[in-house]
Amino acid sequence: MVPDDDFAGGPPQQPEGEPTHHTLRCRLCGGRNRVPVLRALRDLRKPTCGKCSGRLLRVAGEPLTDLTDADLAHPWDRDALAALRALPRVDDLLGALMGRTVDKVAHFRYLGGALEVSSVQLPSLWELHRRASERLGMRPPPLFVSQSPQLNAWAMGAGEPFVVITSGLVDLLDDRSVQAVLGHELTHIRLGHVLYRTLARLLMSGGVGLLDRLFAIGSLLVKPVQVALLRWVQMSELSADRGGLLTIADLDDHIRVEMALAGAPKRLWRELSPQAFLAQADRSEALRSGDLLLQVTELLDDTQRSHPLPVWRAHHAAKWARSEAFFQILAGQPRPALEDLSTP
Ligand SMILES: [Zn+2]
Ligand SMILES: [Zn+2]
Repeated sequence: MVPDDDFAGGPPQQPEGEPTHHTLRCRLCGGRNRVPVLRALRDLRKPTCGKCSGRLLRVAGEPLTDLTDADLAHPWDRDALAALRALPRVDDLLGALMGRTVDKVAHFRYLGGALEVSSVQLPSLWELHRRASERLGMRPPPLFVSQSPQLNAWAMGAGEPFVVITSGLVDLLDDRSVQAVLGHELTHIRLGHVLYRTLARLLMSGGVGLLDRLFAIGSLLVKPVQVALLRWVQMSELSADRGGLLTIADLDDHIRVEMALAGAPKRLWRELSPQAFLAQADRSEALRSGDLLLQVTELLDDTQRSHPLPVWRAHHAAKWARSEAFFQILAGQPRPALEDLSTP
């Protein structure tokens, strides 16, 4: 077997039962192409159409105009959200949070204590944000940089969402990985996650007592609602990661974000191996037995972290990246042939 220099630590293995190739129609000429999955994932800019030589996949920068919410939502996110919404009093809870002072308090906090990014304030960061928004078919929401050595980012707000990213994250990650993070947060906003996540964030940061003092809703957060809310928070990460991955269309850089969250040191950044991390993720997944969801819920003790389980997330991001759905989204819809465009 010829060694593959692209992969430190050996080439990735095709997991059993997954297709080795996807058949994609060229959006430029309609030609059918068989694309090898793992080879394409090394550089998604490279697959070209055998008929017209055009690029088969829409690379970063090209807006995904036909992207739907259903493309982004992970089934576990949808299921967990349905379970949360089915609980009594959840509507009361969200209704109480909406239209109160949440947006005012949150905006005040960041306007008063963080940097608001714009075309004149940290313009290169704003450009990454603007392009990530355009890629996902959204208007760029307000963006703040918050002073913190921790690697974190979050979207907040009840009615008018905005994104916050820490200075530590901007310092450590390169532009493409920062854009993956922004795409992740934008996806939370696009999928309507932010109100629920804001509630979860308030719950994590101050608990039920704080929510009662601030908004008089603590009594509505009965235990089953808290458990369902925190479980959904985990699952919503899988959807947001899909948006982050689509934003940059680069699996390795996306995995580097998860590696950063897991503890990648800045000084040794160039030595990181996404493939070795994915192999670690596979081993970690193999250790689980029984109901994955139950085990994830057990790990919810660590409620201080809003983006936990980077290894678990990397595993699922890579799995989705190998799927036909991911390739079809990047391939887009074939354009109608010229003769179809003539008006009667
Ligand atoms: Zn073509
Ligand atoms: Zn998230």
